[in-house]
Amino acid sequence: MSLRFDAIRQMGENKSDLKETKSTKITSIFGENVFTLEKSRSFLSDDAYKSLLHSIQAGKKIERSIATQLANGIRTWAESKGVTHFTHWFQPLNGTTAEKHDSFFTIKSDGSPIEEFDGASLIQQEPDASSFPSGGLRATFEARGYTAWDPSSPAFIMEIGQGKTLCIPTIFVSYTGASLDYKAPLLKALESLNKAALDVCNYFDKNINKVTATLGWEQEYFVIDESLANARPDIILCDRTVFGAPPAKGQQLDDHYFGSIPERVYAFMRDFENEAYKLGIPLRTRHNEVAPGQYECAPIFEEVNIAVDHNVLLMDVMERVAQRHHLKVLLHEKPFAGINGSGKHNNWSLATDTGINLLMPGKTPKTNLMFLAFFVNAIKAVHDHADLLRACISSAGNDHRLGANEAPPAIISVFIGKYLSRVLNDIETRVGEDFDEQDEAILKLDLHKSIPELMLDNTDRNRTSPFAFTGNKFEFRAVGSSANCANAMITLNTIMAETLKNFKTDVDSLIDKGDKKEIAILHIIQKNIIESKNVLFEGDGYSMDWHHEAERRGLPNVPTTPLALDAMVTDKAMKIFSENNVYKPIELAARHEIELENYIKKIQIEGRVMGDLAINQILPLAVNYQQSLVENIKGLKDLGLPESSWGSQLKIVESLSNHIETVYATVHEMIIKRKEVNQIQNTRTKAIAYCSQVKEPFFDKIRYHIDKLELLVDDAHWRLPKYREMLFIR
Ligand code: ADP
Ligand code: MG
Repeated sequence: MSLRFDAIRQMGENKSDLKETKSTKITSIFGENVFTLEKSRSFLSDDAYKSLLHSIQAGKKIERSIATQLANGIRTWAESKGVTHFTHWFQPLNGTTAEKHDSFFTIKSDGSPIEEFDGASLIQQEPDASSFPSGGLRATFEARGYTAWDPSSPAFIMEIGQGKTLCIPTIFVSYTGASLDYKAPLLKALESLNKAALDVCNYFDKNINKVTATLGWEQEYFVIDESLANARPDIILCDRTVFGAPPAKGQQLDDHYFGSIPERVYAFMRDFENEAYKLGIPLRTRHNEVAPGQYECAPIFEEVNIAVDHNVLLMDVMERVAQRHHLKVLLHEKPFAGINGSGKHNNWSLATDTGINLLMPGKTPKTNLMFLAFFVNAIKAVHDHADLLRACISSAGNDHRLGANEAPPAIISVFIGKYLSRVLNDIETRVGEDFDEQDEAILKLDLHKSIPELMLDNTDRNRTSPFAFTGNKFEFRAVGSSANCANAMITLNTIMAETLKNFKTDVDSLIDKGDKKEIAILHIIQKNIIESKNVLFEGDGYSMDWHHEAERRGLPNVPTTPLALDAMVTDKAMKIFSENNVYKPIELAARHEIELENYIKKIQIEGRVMGDLAINQILPLAVNYQQSLVENIKGLKDLGLPESSWGSQLKIVESLSNHIETVYATVHEMIIKRKEVNQIQNTRTKAIAYCSQVKEPFFDKIRYHIDKLELLVDDAHWRLPKYREMLFIR
């Protein structure tokens, strides 16, 4: 019996294995595994609490003298919940999370066993982390990078089966201080944004003391049966199917979207949501997505650093909880060809400590002007640094998705809706005219009321935009489903900080020349509109027309990762990231190298998996089937039957021969090419070669012929679970 049919039979049994998750009031479990500030109150001395509070609010380092008190408080809390081990939890650049567990248990010098968690272990650890990617920043013999506590993200307890581990969110840096993770630069970008945005806010409101960026992500994912997944080496090794003929029924009926959720998946969702609630992840929505087998969940937005941690944590939780339900979660951007891929929309805005959403249209002339300042600067940031935004969402997986018919194109543009387009147009066309302070046409507009109403009409077309204003926030839609949002958030917040700084310089220079503040601000808003209007696009982002139009406008359109990544190491990028204190040039160069290496590895593995599956599994099946046809034809001929009795079979034999020969030859050529490309020393050249000489000429071609074979070969002998079996879970 083939693996595939075993798996299908097993799938039937997997169904009955469900454990029901009790319905609980969310508020009764929310955050129960998180060491919140509120909770810390009863576990910490006054001094320790104040020091923690201060370090969270002001982003200051914890003093060593207070660290042990903090550590004891956290340990007491954790032990009260049955925790025995702790770990520094961090986000290395290979896209997963990392942890190395240590127990509280230790032996004193006199031999007595005790449980202890000292301040030093809370603040800093040295994982043996020599094999995390560093882009050459940390030669392997100098393997010691260290992790350092990020108090702004609370400690939490991860439950795995019966085991419970205290996780301390940390940054991961080399001994020279270069960052080796996503969190360290993210915190720096957010700090830079805070400073720049605060300066601009203070033109309008002196009471504002802090600006934080907010993020609400929407996570798309596929769920398939675990037994079927295990029977697909490509899913196990590449997180996606490299072969698979389209099913008779795909997504053309659109009957999955917002349809009822299959019971098994529903049980899984409720289970992982419960785990998420305990970890303080404020999940809000769940629903089916467009493709069969595809779903989405989204939380209430949070401050960016926390939201990023929560997303990474949730991806991990989902994968673990899925096992309990004999399901497999696929976070890859394009697990199945021919149907929609998965993205992770990043809804982004800026909030003040006084409770204002800076991208929320105002109610008064003053708040209208403040809104317009931030709104227009966000557009300008995207316009000026579209290449960086393109680079920060690049990955081998996302290349399959961007520009496919359901995802935004690789061209970065901004959608703002008809109404705001008109407002910006009004401001722009009044060149030469002087603005007056109570500008009727612009500042007295009832933006607050009109925009949300008008946004509703625009939803259909704005779905095709990679960067859309949705009434009170921007939605960055080009981010891949498996990505760490930090990558996009580091870039977006840095370019926003940079743009706001320039805005302030420009405004100040007009004020110095004698303009009134409001007039100066309006003038620079106008200037920025003029300079960035090329990036605004209200039409259908999926259409070919847009590709031509974008080219005419000179907007960059880089479809593949190795070339898109070039933007990371331009002089412009080096300047912006270093001036905003996010990356030193050497760190950027290292990151560029790591991204290229990640790309190379992914394509390398996919190439190998394709070759192995084709040669060891699929071609032998096809040859066997062909052999049986040949014998049958011979037999029919021996009986003296005419060609009308075996002619069709002969055609199938011919067809099989054609596909078999092509696959053999193409795989062989691909292997030769891969070996050649592997000799290339320069990482960038190698990545480009992997893309243009290995992936592009061979992958689709091999796949085409294999998928034809799938349709020809006797179903009873086909060993890889088929799309129709994987995509329609019952
Ligand atoms: P839709 O589902 O139509 O895209 P929603 O209103 O449901 O829009 O919002 C989607 C996501 O946007 C949610 O995660 C939500 O929390 C987030 N969001 C809403 N307001 C903000 C904001 N000010 N900053 C960041 N994210 C936000
Ligand atoms: Mg959305």
